[in-house]
Amino acid sequence: MAKKKKWEYSPAPESKQPAAIAGRYELFINGKWQKPSSGTYFNSINPATEEKLSEIATANETDVNKAVQAAKQAYEKYWKKISPTERGKYIFRIARIMQERARELAVTETLDGGKPIRESRDFDIPTAANHFFYYAGWADKLDFAFPNKKANSLGVAGQITPWNFPLLMAAWKIAPALATGNTVVLKPAETTSLTTLKLAEIIQEAELPPGVVNIITGDGQTGAWLTKHNDVNKIAFTGSTEVGKIIQRSLAGSQKKLTLELGGKGANIIFEDAPIDQAVEGVVNGIFFNQGHVCCAGSRLYVQESIAKKFIQKLKDRIGTLLVGDPMDKNTDIGAINSAQQLKTIQAYIKIGKAEGATFFETDCVLPKKGFFCRPTLFTNVAQSNRIAQEEIFGPVLSILTFRTDDEVIEKANNSPYGLSAGIWTDKGARIFNLSKRIRAGVIWANTYNLFDPTSPFGGYKESGFGREGGLQGLHPYVQLS
Ligand code: NAD
Ligand code: MN
Repeated sequence: MAKKKKWEYSPAPESKQPAAIAGRYELFINGKWQKPSSGTYFNSINPATEEKLSEIATANETDVNKAVQAAKQAYEKYWKKISPTERGKYIFRIARIMQERARELAVTETLDGGKPIRESRDFDIPTAANHFFYYAGWADKLDFAFPNKKANSLGVAGQITPWNFPLLMAAWKIAPALATGNTVVLKPAETTSLTTLKLAEIIQEAELPPGVVNIITGDGQTGAWLTKHNDVNKIAFTGSTEVGKIIQRSLAGSQKKLTLELGGKGANIIFEDAPIDQAVEGVVNGIFFNQGHVCCAGSRLYVQESIAKKFIQKLKDRIGTLLVGDPMDKNTDIGAINSAQQLKTIQAYIKIGKAEGATFFETDCVLPKKGFFCRPTLFTNVAQSNRIAQEEIFGPVLSILTFRTDDEVIEKANNSPYGLSAGIWTDKGARIFNLSKRIRAGVIWANTYNLFDPTSPFGGYKESGFGREGGLQGLHPYVQLS
């Protein structure tokens, strides 16, 4: 039988025009756009259409050296000398220009990365601007953040970001580094560099002294040169556990400070006394938000046995209504998978899940012919030891397990190499306290999921990394206390 759309909405596409994407981007070093010494460029495509959007400079070792030297000089010459209040003013200025250019940034983020425009417009861009506002406020209040201590800046921060929340991750990294008086060299992920390059334009527009923030583009090799550079004093990395381990090994024995924000396999736990319809929404938001390209996604669902049948049926009915398709359409719930390679990884895990004997379910929505798309997918009858319950899939694929008691679900939730996030849905406050104390995860949501705020710290346990970003805690990795 031919697959039909569940509902028919007239398309409501956002215009591409505000993105104003240039045909080519150079490296942003020492306040200027500089050609790469390699002379080479790579393409960034729109994963929803497979069209080329722009070409982007590849930074080689010479460029990395140049950027780090620029950051070091800017640190010595101006940034460590200016008053904290002045530093704060620059950061406020960045935040305000981001707000002015919000529409352009949102459309660019969606075109380059594939996430629905509704999300980049209502979540990514405003939250990124809020991070700059929040840390701008700390710049001249570090004495209150660290009472009876002096917070000394470190020097040059080398920062590397992933492709799932490109501008937001850049904000998480740059804002606290600047607020504490450090200078920055940042390398975005190769499939989604465009909004970070636009952030470089904003930094230029905000008239930051040259070299205080440098943006260099390229692949993992560029990132490796940056992390190994002797004049970099701190590394902040967000990405896969695999690369995090490589970086940690390469830094062993050096004086560099390091924070790692890595993968996850979040347990979203539903008790029989939970508000069921809200919990269904929370589960949908937990795994299908941003195509499941979320490190803290609720990718393992634990439902109490007594309500499992009813809950899973409601969940299937609900995801049957999700619209998968053009990320630029304001009706779209699930956009494009970020790259052909990521789609392959997700499809490989779907195969593994079937081979492991779990029960497969996907919705019957029609997928666009071009671009990289994946239907919302569930696996039931999953065993705790299955790879789809243990490994990060990073796509819209949910593994569903059941449990009977509190102790059992705590043990199962903790039976994971990761420890980034969890969700607890119950009417009982005492149960929330008990579980959130005993589950080893950096962020635990109660009766909600995937809520973020600049004032609250984020980070992992175990193979999800160490160090915190956001909040007062997010200042620590960028200072030496005396
Ligand atoms: P990735 O590790 O492949 O790449 C991340 C960044 O590291 C990219 O900019 C890449 O170019 C760079 N890189 C690659 N090899 C490098 C090397 N040897 N040295 C230095 N840099 C190198 O990860 P990804 O596929 O871009 O992102 C997805 C992963 O990120 C997922 O595992 C996800 O869970 C994780 N993530 C974690 C968080 C968090 O806060 N914990 C947030 C977002 C994403
Ligand atoms: Mn792209």
